[in-house]
Amino acid sequence: MFEKSTWIRLPRNVVVGHGVLDDAVEVVRDTHLTGRPLVVTSPTPKTVAAENVVAQFEAVGDDPAVVVVEEATFESVERVLGEAEAVDPGYLVGVGGGKAIDIAKLASDHLNVGFVSVPTAASHDGIVSGRGSVPEGDTRHSVSAAPPLAVIADTGVIADAPWELTTAGCADIISNYTAVKDWRLANRLQHVPYSEYAGALSQMTAEMLVDNAANIKPELEESAWVVVKALVSSGVAMSIADSSRPASGSEHLFSHQLDRIAPGKALHGHQVGVGSILAEYLHSGQEGQWMAVRDALASLDAPTTADELGVTDDEVLAALTSAHEIRDRYTILGGGISEVAAREAASRTGVI
Ligand SMILES: [Zn+2]
Repeated sequence: MFEKSTWIRLPRNVVVGHGVLDDAVEVVRDTHLTGRPLVVTSPTPKTVAAENVVAQFEAVGDDPAVVVVEEATFESVERVLGEAEAVDPGYLVGVGGGKAIDIAKLASDHLNVGFVSVPTAASHDGIVSGRGSVPEGDTRHSVSAAPPLAVIADTGVIADAPWELTTAGCADIISNYTAVKDWRLANRLQHVPYSEYAGALSQMTAEMLVDNAANIKPELEESAWVVVKALVSSGVAMSIADSSRPASGSEHLFSHQLDRIAPGKALHGHQVGVGSILAEYLHSGQEGQWMAVRDALASLDAPTTADELGVTDDEVLAALTSAHEIRDRYTILGGGISEVAAREAASRTGVI
């Protein structure tokens, strides 16, 4: 008897391109969201994008409310929830890089209202997925919710963001290679469900980005286009799988652990990129494999060493040997790797 079923939740409207920020009201109307918008943003994105969005909602009489958050903390989420209690929003609009979007995502999930993502940087694949987390003390508040109902990614705005944010987004996409390898391994060893479609899409996304690496350059709007499309594609792979597996494996565990051990030192995407070099080495040990990942990262100006991340060798080793403890996700790290093996992996790949 056939008993399988699947529920694929995708964003309804994904609007990418030059000047699309000006279409915010039209996109929201087309998504059938109603009521007052509550715009969640942070200081710089407020000036470069949120003020424009707010003015558009004001012009059509939607009476938008705004919360400016400074940090990605649970306190910020609570501030947004407090504001929501006062204004009773119909939906939330996150305008910013990672921070404001993650906070809006967590708050909208809590409030059970719709969420619109307006990224001002292409720094990670969370801009199109329902997944996000904010740290609180030693733990993290995570959400695995529906993806945003709409994504409005203006390439003009994104191309103006600091270059390192774009290189972090590229590295997050390159990490799909090892995420898919870990997923396949978990399928073979632990019978974790594997989706051929999601795995292939995720891997192809990384391949296309690497093939296009020569066209990804600072302040080039076309680069913003290439990277945003790849982030959307990664997000779709996660939606198809109903899991972050297609884009998150041992390299992400390594990065989450680095967040605890050396908080605030490097960007998420840059950490997972270095994690990917290590994960590729652990998967095959063959030079060709991990060197290809390292060279792709280097060609995109993304860090490939502990030094370039701004962390110490010991912090890398501590993160690598404890990354398997973070969550119940089977990867090449298995039940953990020894200090000697970690040092060998990190020094042979030149990470330390
Ligand atoms: Zn990521």
